[in-house]
Amino acid sequence: MTENQDQKLLWFNFLKTFTRALVQINLYKPDHPQVKQALEEGQALLGQIADSLGGGDFSVTIDHDKLLVNGVPLVAADKLPNSLKNLYSKFRIQTITFSPGAGGDDLLALCQVQAFKGEAKAFLAERGIEKIKLNEAVYAKVEAGAPAGAASVTAPGQAGAAGGQGQGQGQAGAPQEKVAEKISGQNFENALATVVGRVTSDPAEQRRVIELLEAKFKEAVEAGVTRALEEVRREKKKVENDMARTESVMTSIADGVVVVDKEGKILMMNPQAEAISGKALSQLSGKNIVDLSQIENQVVSLAKEIKSENRADISKEIVRTGPAGMAETVKKATAIIQNEDGKIVGAVSIPTDAVKLKQVEQLQQEFIANMTHELRSPLTSIKAALEIMGKDAGGDDASKGVLNTAIRNTERLNSIITDILDFSKLQSGKMVFHQEGSPAAEIAKEAAESMRAWATSKGIDLAVSVEPGVQHIYADRRRTVQVLINLISNAIKFTPQGGTIEISADAGKESLAGFTFFSVKDTGCGIKKEDQGKIFEKFVQVASGEKVGGTGLGLSITKAMVVMQGGRITLESEPGKGSTFRVGMPVYKGQGEQQVFEQVPEVKAPEKPWWKKLLGM
Ligand code: ADP
Repeated sequence: MTENQDQKLLWFNFLKTFTRALVQINLYKPDHPQVKQALEEGQALLGQIADSLGGGDFSVTIDHDKLLVNGVPLVAADKLPNSLKNLYSKFRIQTITFSPGAGGDDLLALCQVQAFKGEAKAFLAERGIEKIKLNEAVYAKVEAGAPAGAASVTAPGQAGAAGGQGQGQGQAGAPQEKVAEKISGQNFENALATVVGRVTSDPAEQRRVIELLEAKFKEAVEAGVTRALEEVRREKKKVENDMARTESVMTSIADGVVVVDKEGKILMMNPQAEAISGKALSQLSGKNIVDLSQIENQVVSLAKEIKSENRADISKEIVRTGPAGMAETVKKATAIIQNEDGKIVGAVSIPTDAVKLKQVEQLQQEFIANMTHELRSPLTSIKAALEIMGKDAGGDDASKGVLNTAIRNTERLNSIITDILDFSKLQSGKMVFHQEGSPAAEIAKEAAESMRAWATSKGIDLAVSVEPGVQHIYADRRRTVQVLINLISNAIKFTPQGGTIEISADAGKESLAGFTFFSVKDTGCGIKKEDQGKIFEKFVQVASGEKVGGTGLGLSITKAMVVMQGGRITLESEPGKGSTFRVGMPVYKGQGEQQVFEQVPEVKAPEKPWWKKLLGM
């Protein structure tokens, strides 16, 4: 027989003896031998039980349908003798607890309670009975000495699993912090069982409380999860909408669009970009843009640059891997994506179709060449015819005047055509300069003489002065004469009748000793300070008193022709008083002159912000 079975046998025997005593006390006086014998046997059994529990309390509970001893179900309630059941029900006793040392007198008092009409507890108290207690919360205490498996509080479906969990801890009314200490090391179910064990000693009630709490907990968790999921769903929807919007914008753009991250890895491409690269996004996604020969030409070195978040690196020279002009085009079509902290996290680029761009470029150049040619040939014939008519016509002054105006207009038209042609050549890099040792004095005079007739016709005095010993320049003579003609023609245009224009040539001084300077000084309307920087830009015409026509290309072509030969051009002007343009051309230093560019003092452009450099603005 196991230890448990021994114990249960003891409990049964005691209950039988106790029931017998209960019955006999109703029949006999307390000193009747039968009663005495039952009480003595009961005392002996209580002693043995106390020993088997190691000195712990011994409790007998009737809970609804069963009798439990120390929390362990022993027998169904309907199998119990009526006398025992009546004792419990009459006094609404739930548990009778026998403390170690409880004897025959204690048992006798308990049996005599049956006939008492008042409170059972008060009856025992009156007789000084301390070792038998009624209705005490017993489970935690009993467990202290309970055998293994004598579970008192269990979570549903965990019967026995929480066995012994109350070991060594407080009775009812023990300090609460001990509970906290205890449950801190327990899993949820055991912790719940521990707490509920403190609330009620009734196992059925405990189970109900646990089930209720678990249901409430589940409900609260589910509500929390639903709330959190709702938030996530909303966020997801937002992201999905954003994506759909971005995608629809990307697909509807006629140009190819490639989005790369800050490492230059491809994130998105629209169908047009796929067509240019010849590959689907699924094949290229995650690949580095610089590793792809198909679109390398379109994106130039963009990805290399955006890798860096540092200004200094971004400002470094662009590697032009694509066709001429492509780098600029791509940069202009590129938007840098920055995060909230201003760091570059990616870029959107519109890689133009290289072939298409080349075709457009070619078409543009062909158109300008054809147009200027077609315009110039009839113009030359018209001018020749007008000149013949002017010579032959003996007519009156009025008709001569008309003829002269017509001739001047053909000249103006011719110079406009020349400007357009030169501008187109400069843009396509096709303007060639035959630089050689050229006489500065002769260049100045040649330019002045070719404009004298026009100046005279406007009543403007044109003077030329050349500093003695002025050096030859290293320049294309024809182009340099053209530079001076442009400046003189502007001076004539913007100087009123009676004004003067001085053309001079002199040697550069000190740090500019490597240059020979030409000056074109007029007494015209002058240029406002705020306009002085702008007039060298293409298509810029600043307001002046007189409407003089022109294209706004003259000075930008002039400057380009000077700078491309290693020269420099400056302007000094005072509105209302006149302007002086100074052109410095490198001094010719003999055969093999190639180093002239090194002597050019660097004219630094104002520092641009990094993003303008990056985008080629
Ligand atoms: P355009 O071919 O129209 O003359 P330019 O590039 O030669 O264009 O000149 C740009 C503008 O600069 C002119 O429209 C004029 O307003 C101003 N400008 C140029 N030269 C002079 C000058 N000598 N005096 C006053 N204004 C001038």
